[in-house]
Amino acid sequence: MNSDLNGRTRIAVDLDGVEAEFAEPFLKFRNEKYGTNYTKADIFTYDFWSVFRVSREQSIKDVLDFYNSPEFEKIVPIPGSQEATSLLSKKYFIAALTARPDFTMDKTLSWLEKYFPNVFSEFHFTNHFAGNGKSKNKSDFCLEYGYEILIDDYHGHANECARRGIDVFLMEQPWNWETLHPKVIRVRNWREIQERLR
Ligand SMILES: [Mg+2]
Repeated sequence: MNSDLNGRTRIAVDLDGVEAEFAEPFLKFRNEKYGTNYTKADIFTYDFWSVFRVSREQSIKDVLDFYNSPEFEKIVPIPGSQEATSLLSKKYFIAALTARPDFTMDKTLSWLEKYFPNVFSEFHFTNHFAGNGKSKNKSDFCLEYGYEILIDDYHGHANECARRGIDVFLMEQPWNWETLHPKVIRVRNWREIQERLR
């Protein structure tokens, strides 16, 4: 169940904050909209409403507006992610597991095709914040699809998956300084993940 026909271990990889540099273009979009000056270092939590001191509803709407903006299509890969993920895909079964809503699917798949061709074998959109589809936890996806390893940048997903027996690598970011489940391994970059999964 947990490996494919070639016996490969199945890895679920998050996109934003792991493969995709979401924060910079989102902040550019948001700063222009509100005339503010936030930088990536200011994002101490993924609860953006606490960072920007607005309502939760407004905060979610800003992100949804960003998905529909031209800035969203200017997202670039995180340094080292393309080479590392491509190498891992030779040995492991790689699935994309993103909290993006499913209305971003066409743009997201085009982006992956552009920067990560032939790397991902499966794609899942968990619709974590609204969107059209139904929301399901990342750990539900991991258990349902037999992903034994998760690579993510949100401590919430990381801890939740670790509690349910999944090995987790957490990509260090300004928004994930919180205490982690003992099974979560914190890494600083893709090189460290590569070394541990070689
Ligand atoms: Mg993420």
